[in-house]
Amino acid sequence: MTEKKQDDRRVAVVAIGGNSLIKDKNHRSVEDQYNAAGETAYHIARMIESGWDVAIGHGNGPQVGFILRRSELARHELHEVPLEVCGADTQGAIGYSLQQNLYNHFLNMGIRKPVATVVTQVEVDANDPAFQNPSKPIGSFMDEADALRRQSEEGWDVVEDAGRGWRRVVPSPLPTRVVELDAVKELIDAGVVVITVGGGGIPVVTDERGHLQGIAAVIDKDFASSLLATSIKASLFLISTAVEKVAINYGTPDEKWVDHMTLAEAKRYLEEGIHFKKGSMAPKIQAVIWFLEQGGQEAIITNPENIARALAGETGTHITRN
Ligand code: ADP
Ligand code: MG
Repeated sequence: MTEKKQDDRRVAVVAIGGNSLIKDKNHRSVEDQYNAAGETAYHIARMIESGWDVAIGHGNGPQVGFILRRSELARHELHEVPLEVCGADTQGAIGYSLQQNLYNHFLNMGIRKPVATVVTQVEVDANDPAFQNPSKPIGSFMDEADALRRQSEEGWDVVEDAGRGWRRVVPSPLPTRVVELDAVKELIDAGVVVITVGGGGIPVVTDERGHLQGIAAVIDKDFASSLLATSIKASLFLISTAVEKVAINYGTPDEKWVDHMTLAEAKRYLEEGIHFKKGSMAPKIQAVIWFLEQGGQEAIITNPENIARALAGETGTHITRN
């Protein structure tokens, strides 16, 4: 099955962000998302053309929100869709869009490269402290009566959101294991472009018999992609998002765009707490820190259109161990 000698290979995990599927709130249709995915897929195809083997992780927050909303609106007639199944559905749909776009780009480039999506479960620790503090809002706003009914009948955690209504909240535990890792590795070793850990993976826990069970939680996609990169010993972890570079003192008069950070600098900036916004850039920096601490060589944060230039060292923020 092996395509190239193992040590000749350059394997990268590319984590693609929300802007690779939804450009703005007027472009959210399936067709718009397909076209947006096509643009990012083009830049990844060029990267692959230049010799990289790539595993792709992606976000799914808005897409899960759409499925939940449809599910809620249709519940007088059809069963609702559990959160972990929304995760599986979006992995399939987003994977399809990336697979077809990559296929077509490869055809245009005259290269042959198979692409496959792996519906991926990611294990979390049932004792993760996040389960004591469900904080990630999911689904639509509800009135108080509906929220309390679902709390008692379905065991939901619900919170009142600053006067705007009630929402369900779920935990966001850390990923501990990519369940389909061996399959993903086999595919990469066989030269297949793999789309995996979509939306951070479908969160599962192991019961006392070792059996897996899906749970209502969400895993940060940058954390899951970092775990994947460590687990497959990728030489590069590339985070594609909406900015060309990372800034320190972001959003202040002292804002400074950074070309290169060492692991030690990244840790210091993250600890200082003022540079990277919580919930957007901070988890990416944390994901990069874990990757480098576990033996990763280099991480890059940039936007899709600058992937080639960033790989050539011309832009992007590069984070390395030293
Ligand atoms: P994604 O969907 O790719 O995860 P996020 O919105 O979660 O995207 O995170 C990327 C965003 O983080 C950028 O578009 C930018 O607005 C924001 N951001 C926060 N802090 C910084 C920083 N220090 N440097 C650059 N961008 C930052
Ligand atoms: Mg994000």
